[in-house]
Amino acid sequence: MPVGEGGAGRGPEQPPADLPADPSPVADNAHELVLRSPFVLCRRCGAYVSAERGAKRLKDLCPGPLPPLDRCSPAERERRRRREKLLQGLHPTSGASPGA
Ligand SMILES: [Zn+2]
Repeated sequence: MPVGEGGAGRGPEQPPADLPADPSPVADNAHELVLRSPFVLCRRCGAYVSAERGAKRLKDLCPGPLPPLDRCSPAERERRRRREKLLQGLHPTSGASPGA
């Protein structure tokens, strides 16, 4: 005598798979962008974008973090200084508060 389809049929629902919790790592050659309105700054290399400068440098690959201060060339030292200013919310060259 055939059993047919009289059984319960469906199995228990599968729980949704856990999403991976690890943050996606930033690629070595990608800028790590921080918004400091009206500027967008790369935290690694110090390149930044503003309305007057445009995004020229940020279109290139990120050259990586700046070397320590005692090993910086003058240009790198300047880039470091501007990055610090930007991270403080100040204008990178004049040091003025952009909101003022
Ligand atoms: Zn960069």
